[in-house]
Amino acid sequence: MTEDNSQELYDRALSVMPGGVNSAVRAAIEPYPFFVRKGEGGHVIDADGNRYIDWVMGLGPLLLGHDLPEPVQASIQQKASEGPMYGTPTPVEVDLAEFVVRHVPSVEKIRFVNSGTEATVSAVRLARGYTGRNKVVVMQGGYHGAQESTLVEGDAENPRPSSAGIPQSFAEHTLPVPFNDEDAIREVFDEHGDDIAAVLTEPILGNYGIVYPEDGYHEFLREITDEHGSLLIFDEVITGFRVGGLGCAQSEFGVTPDLTTFGKIIGGGFPVGAIGGRAEIVEHFTPSGDVFQAGTFSGHPVTMAAGLETLQFAAANDVYDHVNGLGERLRSGLTDILADQAPSYTVTGTDSMFKVIFTREGPSGVQRTPEDASGDDREQGPDSLEEQCEAGCRQNATCPRYDYCPKNAADVKNAETERWRRIFWGR
Ligand code: PMP
Repeated sequence: MTEDNSQELYDRALSVMPGGVNSAVRAAIEPYPFFVRKGEGGHVIDADGNRYIDWVMGLGPLLLGHDLPEPVQASIQQKASEGPMYGTPTPVEVDLAEFVVRHVPSVEKIRFVNSGTEATVSAVRLARGYTGRNKVVVMQGGYHGAQESTLVEGDAENPRPSSAGIPQSFAEHTLPVPFNDEDAIREVFDEHGDDIAAVLTEPILGNYGIVYPEDGYHEFLREITDEHGSLLIFDEVITGFRVGGLGCAQSEFGVTPDLTTFGKIIGGGFPVGAIGGRAEIVEHFTPSGDVFQAGTFSGHPVTMAAGLETLQFAAANDVYDHVNGLGERLRSGLTDILADQAPSYTVTGTDSMFKVIFTREGPSGVQRTPEDASGDDREQGPDSLEEQCEAGCRQNATCPRYDYCPKNAADVKNAETERWRRIFWGR
């Protein structure tokens, strides 16, 4: 019933959906997620009538906010009223493919799918099919969707599934290494070089940290993959058409991957994923090649229209200056607040990405390695604590600033990490 408030909706949802949600992270808000009735510009309004500033924007897809510009809206509505899908090609998917090929130099051909997960599944299969090899190198702390080849934790010596339901024999073909660690990559190539189909990485780790690549790291990945005949795959599901504007993060770093996975913004707020790259490789997808790939909803006309109009709007207006400026304003405002309220926390991010992490500042204001992003606040030591503590009682859980206390920040951080782990992995 639409009159229910969030708590009532969650109660109903719990009895008919696992964990009450359709994606694990949505249960992160306690004691229950707020159920959204509608978006308005930069806000969302929940079932209880509360109005929130929306920093999340659908977890990334909404580059233009909730109030879509007129041409975007008109195109979506027209496509929805015309069918809305046919199971056969339509003109708008060619238009969007041409747009992406024109703006992202590494992409000569592209296949559209329906989610970021589907994109990385297909990219890994394509890399394996193209090279005739089995193994895939991934970055510890990276995320590539809910798929068997990348839900793997541990290290290259001892990879293991990070979710129930994935056989250990699958995980053995995945080699997790620390991000920004060239020696670790050299070691896996020394040991498995002949069987490595691809190195798969987010250009900037967006799901951990945010962790920025060291200068030269992506160039190094490009060289070592070339040297061994492996593919370099950039997962730009988050960064694509957000970081580096229409050229994506790869243009910012000046590195050309063999394959790129897209999602989120490229569908203008509708379910989407895509795999783009060198024509010679992408042609290995069926029907031109032998790597099977298909999908009922792939290239859905409403999604293609929303993606195309969104990107065209961004190309014709100063959208990236605007959202990046908002990102900068938000990061610097948060940095000021944290300097006062929680000096052991850090604001990270770039362009229109941001995050607050429960640790002190990394070497250059952005976290460069996963270790920095999970750094231990206790190093801060009691002396600096005394200086920062006006009330002198920071260890008291009844203190209103308890959550910000550098002394117990490690506990708070651990509790947060545990809570997220439980939400994400159900354990
Ligand atoms: N790759 C990256 C880098 C992601 O951040 C995500 C999801 N946020 C995915 C892949 C999976 O995308 P989806 O949730 O659309 O399946």
